[in-house]
Amino acid sequence: PPTRSFLYEALPMRVRFGVDALAALPEELDQLGLERVLVICSPDQKSMGTRVADALGHRSVGVLADAVMHVPAEVAQRASAEAERLGADGCVTVGGGSAIGLGKAIALEHGLPIVAVPTTYAGSEMTPVWGVTTDGLKTTGRDPRVLPRSVVYDPALTATLPVAMSVTSGINAMAHAVEALYAPDATPIISLMAEDGVRALATALPAIAADSSDLAARSEALYGSWLCGACLGATTMSLHHKLCHSLGGTLNLPHAQTHTVVLPHALAFNQPAATAATTALSRALGGAADPALGLWELAGQLGAPRSLAELGAQEADLDRIAEQVTSRPYGNPRPVTYDDVRGLLQAAWAGKPPT
Ligand code: NAD
Repeated sequence: PPTRSFLYEALPMRVRFGVDALAALPEELDQLGLERVLVICSPDQKSMGTRVADALGHRSVGVLADAVMHVPAEVAQRASAEAERLGADGCVTVGGGSAIGLGKAIALEHGLPIVAVPTTYAGSEMTPVWGVTTDGLKTTGRDPRVLPRSVVYDPALTATLPVAMSVTSGINAMAHAVEALYAPDATPIISLMAEDGVRALATALPAIAADSSDLAARSEALYGSWLCGACLGATTMSLHHKLCHSLGGTLNLPHAQTHTVVLPHALAFNQPAATAATTALSRALGGAADPALGLWELAGQLGAPRSLAELGAQEADLDRIAEQVTSRPYGNPRPVTYDDVRGLLQAAWAGKPPT
């Protein structure tokens, strides 16, 4: 093998993992000296948020069930004002990327520490990346203040995540690992995490599709999503994430589903220029000769969407997305041209197998 060369900077992660780990949430607050936390969740998960707040007793100052996808600026401002009015000294986010995203917006404004209790596989809890949307335009940035101080992964909380959402969210997680394996700033330890993250999710998702209350499978999927989230926080993402960011932001397509449709196509495009990543993914997917095709087949087997058309994209929008994605250069293992991206988008739109 060639000589190694890398720069690895570890993010401070405190992770508590296990079925019923939620019971130890008060210990996580103790460790941070938090006495007045605001619990944040999505409207659909208000009962889960309330359960968490009740378990915290007097240490919870309220439940804010306002989190929605992509953190609209007005929602972030209202939430920051509410945290201030209640005299909160921290936030506990219960939910997926939307709940964590709102906690991050408050952290950015007031510096309040976040304790995250993730209930999807999106991985935002492992990253210092925030995002806020103003007039339909999403601004993102990195700031160490928004990285949660402590993360409590409790697989029991994910048992209610519907199978369809579990599958797409799990493939969304795998996308972080895939791009970490061929990232310009890839490192050996993150590559180990990426490979095991993909292996864990590829094993767990079919078991969840067969029985969504299978706690062993839920545990394995959440473990995989932790690893994949750590990959997202540690490396620079390439073509696949650019495509999804553009499709989500411009066409308002759903986050996890868009990742699911695009990933096999982006990976197929990059595979010829990313041999070591392809070998690692092949191992992670049980020896699949072509990992991109393996992921496409897995999505099909699990009943996940495989075309941008079924997510509501119009064929006429694809030129615009291809232009956005090629207007500025960024790191990608294989050089990207407009025609390449337009062709990739066409195949993804039509639901064709990746080539
Ligand atoms: P989400 O948080 O919006 O959750 C999707 C839906 O699932 C919501 O309706 C929610 O109420 C429901 N849900 C969540 N957990 C559940 C459970 N256990 N049981 C039943 N229902 C449950 O979606 P997401 O895919 O987790 O996150 C997507 C958002 O996160 C996007 O805005 C994306 O940009 C952002 N994100 C950010 C980062 C980052 O590093 N900053 C990383 C990944 C995703």
